[in-house]
Amino acid sequence: MSRRTSVPLRIGNIIVGGGAPISVQSMTNTDTRDIAATVRQIKELEDCGAEIVRLAVPDVEAAEAISGIKRETSLPLIGDIHFDYRLALAALRAGVDGLRLNPGNIRKREQIAMVVTMAREREIPIRVGVNAGSLPANFEAEEPLSRRMVDAALRQVELMEELDFNLIKVALKAFDVPATIEAYEMIADRIPYPLHLGITEAGLPRAGAIRSAIGVGVLLYKGIGDTIRVSLSAHPCEEVVAAYEILKALGLRRSGVTLVSCPSCGRAEIDVLKLAPEVDRYLEKARKPIKVAIMGCVVNGPGEARGADVGIAGGRGKGIIFRKGKVIRTVPKEDLLEALKAEIDSLLERKNEAGW
Ligand code: SF4
Repeated sequence: MSRRTSVPLRIGNIIVGGGAPISVQSMTNTDTRDIAATVRQIKELEDCGAEIVRLAVPDVEAAEAISGIKRETSLPLIGDIHFDYRLALAALRAGVDGLRLNPGNIRKREQIAMVVTMAREREIPIRVGVNAGSLPANFEAEEPLSRRMVDAALRQVELMEELDFNLIKVALKAFDVPATIEAYEMIADRIPYPLHLGITEAGLPRAGAIRSAIGVGVLLYKGIGDTIRVSLSAHPCEEVVAAYEILKALGLRRSGVTLVSCPSCGRAEIDVLKLAPEVDRYLEKARKPIKVAIMGCVVNGPGEARGADVGIAGGRGKGIIFRKGKVIRTVPKEDLLEALKAEIDSLLERKNEAGW
């Protein structure tokens, strides 16, 4: 899969664009003014694999809290700014690693000039973050949504370029998946900057992860996109997990565990639907790129999951442990979970020793 070429940007210690690995972002849902709670959630996000974290900056107190939050984390922080350019200035002074400005509600040239001047001095990138729900009011309603989003982004990008600022990243987010795909495809050839992908307000985890996987997945498959955020009505770690699943499904990142499990059927000899979630929970914190399979029977089990590092397949009254599709031993049915955990632990240990 060849990727669109974009100019690289540095956001804290993460490179976005320029062929760097596609980074995973999320956003805290704490009150940014509550430094302790926000730091706690950022640490949770770091544990579950987030690489960049965005914080809402609704007022000056929130902007100023960023300096206290920065002292407690090394994850790059992005200040999310709407309506008031002075909050962007305050967030920059507080040490943010990136800004998101909404061109739908911060548009005055002199205000943007003040923000980009300070951002340039500090080498802080700015995301032009278009959202279908807050497009500039004077945009022609009869134009397709995708075009209106692209026009709003391009107008802001051109203004920033005129102001001699090019540390730019662009997002064009809507709930409408086809419109989002069209918009990113349209802008991809028109600007050299990295693209931040997302389907906005995608919903609860089950439907939202699917909407995001389709929208973001189609674009990534076409080589478009440098960083992603899955927006879910859930704890932000759910967003990070969904984002990695999208990237792993396309072979773009290898972080964390890939769980292969069969749907179960009348041939199943073990309770896959109980065992698979238990193993999934056990593996929640594992960051090594390993593949684990849970298969209901031996007829197709090891063969279907040949690529798995380790797995189990149900047999009559027992479970069969396999590695890379080869059966290595059998264990009584009731000991399966513990036996699989022991195999996983030893695999992770071997990877640690080998410096993976
Ligand atoms: S692995 Fe066995 S139990 Fe699972 S779906 Fe396939 S045939 Fe059915």
